[in-house]
Amino acid sequence: MRVIFLGPPGVGKGTQADFIAKKFGIQKISTGDLLRESVDRRTTLGNEAKLFMERGELVPDNVVIGLVEEKLGSPECRNGFLLDGFPRTVAQADKLSSFLEGNGEAIDRVVYFSLPQADIIERISGRRSCPKCKAVYHLKSIPPKKEGVCNECEMPLMQRNDDKPETIQSRLVVYQKQTEPLIQYYKDRGILSELDGSGVVSAVQERLVALLTQSR
Ligand code: AMP
Repeated sequence: MRVIFLGPPGVGKGTQADFIAKKFGIQKISTGDLLRESVDRRTTLGNEAKLFMERGELVPDNVVIGLVEEKLGSPECRNGFLLDGFPRTVAQADKLSSFLEGNGEAIDRVVYFSLPQADIIERISGRRSCPKCKAVYHLKSIPPKKEGVCNECEMPLMQRNDDKPETIQSRLVVYQKQTEPLIQYYKDRGILSELDGSGVVSAVQERLVALLTQSR
């Protein structure tokens, strides 16, 4: 099973990706997580990516494509994979399909998560995460047991720099300009399914499992 989760930032792709990867026994590849890891480790790539991420812009295609191809070639992806947050441009999508074609593979399904803009902003601005184990919470919909601290590590929860109000708007504009064209791109290839991303996590999860089970 080779799946892409497509949709605006904050729509819930990451939360669902962890669950789906476990349930279907496939490897999750989140370019946002990989880039944040590189930033934390202060690698050359991380230092380059940091400035783009802080401004809410996309990291250059060649940097992200390199990261993804390295992961796709690893043994963990043999049973399939779930791409969360990649591709985000038509150039990335083209590169991905030629890379897979070279291995005699192809994407089976692209799930496009849709949600009204007001809900997206509400989800992003309430998002908090644990700096240690990276667990993601939401002030209202997924609150930690003890206010402000991680259930597992008891570390104080943090807000991502790029989830702050001044950056959210530019990320949404970048999404509309650079990533939204991928909806039509994958529709044209007959592999796009739209998923209603509204409601509680468990409701979205149920709809998603049904969709992916059907398209297996
Ligand atoms: P995310 O966690 O998916 O919201 O990604 C956080 C940030 O990482 C984005 O705002 C971009 O700056 C960068 N990023 C993640 N994935 C990509 C990608 N496929 N292409 C370019 N930049 C990306």
